[in-house]
Amino acid sequence: MDRCPNCRARYDCNPNCRRCGMALERLAEVEVAAERKLREAVAALADGNRSLAARLLREAQRLKSQPLAGELLGFIRALDDGATIGRAAPAPAPAAPAAAEPAAERRWRQW
Ligand SMILES: [Zn+2]
Repeated sequence: MDRCPNCRARYDCNPNCRRCGMALERLAEVEVAAERKLREAVAALADGNRSLAARLLREAQRLKSQPLAGELLGFIRALDDGATIGRAAPAPAPAAPAAAEPAAERRWRQW
């Protein structure tokens, strides 16, 4: 949380907003919990546990909308729909550039 959701004053990690006095401590805790769930989801995904990762991501999204959580949910949905992960077929090697003709040979041809 960068700003107080009530008055938009900059959040300075104090329990109450310095301008309007709104209690911000619980909101900050919710934000921390959302970030923790996102980290746990990434770990679950790395372990190959997509169902746990998806559940944690949905829980994280309920606490706080996070772009990365949305992207990862889309990624998991794509995998569940049959998308594969892997390297694309290697592109054909580019043609070797023509070697520059050494100046000495060029001069020799002129003879
Ligand atoms: Zn405020």
